[in-house]
Amino acid sequence: MIFPKDTREELDAFYGKHVIGADGKPTAKWEQEHLQLFKVPYPLTLSFDKTVTVTRIRCHKLVGESLIHIFEQILEHFGNLEEVKRARVHLYGGCYNFRPIKDSVRLSTHSWGAGIDLDPERNGLGKPHDPTKGMMSLDVVKIFEKEGWKWGGRFKSRPDCMHFQAAR
Ligand SMILES: [Zn+2]
Repeated sequence: MIFPKDTREELDAFYGKHVIGADGKPTAKWEQEHLQLFKVPYPLTLSFDKTVTVTRIRCHKLVGESLIHIFEQILEHFGNLEEVKRARVHLYGGCYNFRPIKDSVRLSTHSWGAGIDLDPERNGLGKPHDPTKGMMSLDVVKIFEKEGWKWGGRFKSRPDCMHFQAAR
């Protein structure tokens, strides 16, 4: 799929314009209209609370199918859950989260449910990609990119190797 450019205008136009409520958050109406729960093909573990297993992801309804297809391909590529875990791509750092990009006023693609973080522990924001340090698998990057997603590891200003987004 051709996803929008990573600008407020294009993201609003493609994913639904954010109307910010009095509490500074999107309205429940926006969330109801645009977000949906999607069942993932293998269980994920919350990266910030490893006692929690996640079987469904709440993301934008326009990216859910693509995301599920990506997870299917990841599972297929690694062959089984044990190998997926060895590559640490079961460690889920979150998807929908209304917030600005760190140290910026721009909204993150997470704000539209169109961004996902995997294995934040080893792929900290600002850390350039180093495959010798067990950082994001480039095979996983390839799978996301084939689906039209952009990898944060390619951000020029500041790499964000945990991050993938359905925006260019
Ligand atoms: Zn992210």
